[in-house]
Amino acid sequence: MAGHASLCAAVDGPVLLPDDIAYEEECRTFNLSRVLTPAVVVGATSTDDVAAAVRHASRHGMPVAVRNQGHQVVLPTAEDALLITTNRLQEVSVDLGRRTVRVGAGVTWSQVLARTEPAGLAAIVGSAPHVGVVGYTLGGGLSPILGRALGYAADHVRWMEVVTADGAVREVTSDSDPDLFWALLGGKGNFGVVTRMEFEVFPVSRFYGGGLWFRGEEMRPVLEAWRALVPVLGEETTTSFSVQRLPDVAALPQPLRGAFVLHVRLGHLGDSAEGAQIAEPLRTAATPVHDTLAERPFGEIGHIHNDPVHGMPLVETSFALSDFSAATLDRFVELTGPGSGCPMKNVEVRALGGSLDREPTRPNSVSSRGTPYMTFAVGSGSPVQLRAMTEFIGAYTRGMSPWRAPHHIVNFLAADEALSEAEVRGFYGAERYARLAALKRVYDPHNMFRFNHNIRPAA
Ligand SMILES: Cc1cc2nc3c(=O)[nH]c(=O)nc-3n(C[C@H](O)[C@H](O)[C@H](O)COP(=O)(O)OP(=O)(O)OC[C@H]3O[C@@H](n4cnc5c(N)ncnc54)[C@H](O)[C@@H]3O)c2cc1C
Repeated sequence: MAGHASLCAAVDGPVLLPDDIAYEEECRTFNLSRVLTPAVVVGATSTDDVAAAVRHASRHGMPVAVRNQGHQVVLPTAEDALLITTNRLQEVSVDLGRRTVRVGAGVTWSQVLARTEPAGLAAIVGSAPHVGVVGYTLGGGLSPILGRALGYAADHVRWMEVVTADGAVREVTSDSDPDLFWALLGGKGNFGVVTRMEFEVFPVSRFYGGGLWFRGEEMRPVLEAWRALVPVLGEETTTSFSVQRLPDVAALPQPLRGAFVLHVRLGHLGDSAEGAQIAEPLRTAATPVHDTLAERPFGEIGHIHNDPVHGMPLVETSFALSDFSAATLDRFVELTGPGSGCPMKNVEVRALGGSLDREPTRPNSVSSRGTPYMTFAVGSGSPVQLRAMTEFIGAYTRGMSPWRAPHHIVNFLAADEALSEAEVRGFYGAERYARLAALKRVYDPHNMFRFNHNIRPAA
């Protein structure tokens, strides 16, 4: 590769080419069917490494891709790119007085939880604590417990350190650089490599929550109860559900092994008696086969969804929903319920609303405010099974299209779902997209950061 020696000399971390033994591990992704095959990888050990790698890419006209935990590969395969891996950037510092946390770009939510929980503090963590903090937050950051009460994770960012396409290291706040701050938080990887981030945390040490699983055959009465419950919930309560066709594995408790079930999730910040009362109409709509609703320390937030932690070959889709009416429920059951032939492991609907609809005091470009529901479908298996799942995704998308809403959370975009500029404009809306594209022209005029749901520099 041209300039390999000078790149090695410019950075402290490993520089790996496709023939190197460690290359494959460095390009690892959660979705094993979406591999990254960049021309070269830089395992950044510092902000200086990131800046040197970006300057190198700029000199050689190479695009730059970024990976931390690899949970989202929107645009495989990053061929010809310089991939910067950030997982070695491991700073985590907690300022108890200011109630803020500062993290490096390689930190996961589990690491933050380990530091904040003993202090009785909580961050706007998502459903899976093994997800990277910075990627999650740049894409909005939707929490299954604190979102409706406090908004998106992006709404609580105070400060970022970012390397922009010119190789400059910038410290960005909503006061110092309101445009770049706005664009980064919501624009995700389009505007630079965020090397460090500081955000607020909140005095929350516990919650009432977990899941109720019902036989799939009984999903209709439970979903009717769920549909009636959502509009009357306060902002301290968050809920979602998922139709699951689970594998027969020892890691699951007996009633769930190999089972077709409806998993209703609940997280409630008020007291447990109140939480149990909220869950009552669900518990009585049918008999749960498994019930994990309980008083829990905040660190057990991952127990609400029980997301898988190990990578596997996946197909997935997601989109926003304008409604979950009786007609939506009917169509959902038809597409995913008993006798539907739905091959997916998981088809979920999350109820949003509350503080997720409010503009934050430090404005950002998160585009999904006002979206009442979102759906996400994912399946894993052999290539033949993945093909059947891809077909299902087409049928599911068409079937749910009457309720499809335009503005979606970019964190849930799957590979190849945002290939055209029109699609990306659709996620953001024309006005927000026009501002993002104008800022892209300022901060990344040659579209160096394009392995994402790409915002093209304005003409
Ligand atoms: C099991 C599971 C559960 C999830 N649950 C939720 C949830 O509840 N709420 C939610 O909001 N999201 C959720 N997500 C989505 C998740 O937030 C995104 O996939 C997030 O990007 C994952 O972080 P990562 O470190 O794995 O990102 P990576 O896959 O490593 O990066 C994804 C993209 O983020 C950008 N990026 C990452 N780091 C940086 C950086 N330092 N600077 C600039 N750009 C960067 C790049 O564009 C990169 O391509 C979930 C994902 C999974 C797999």
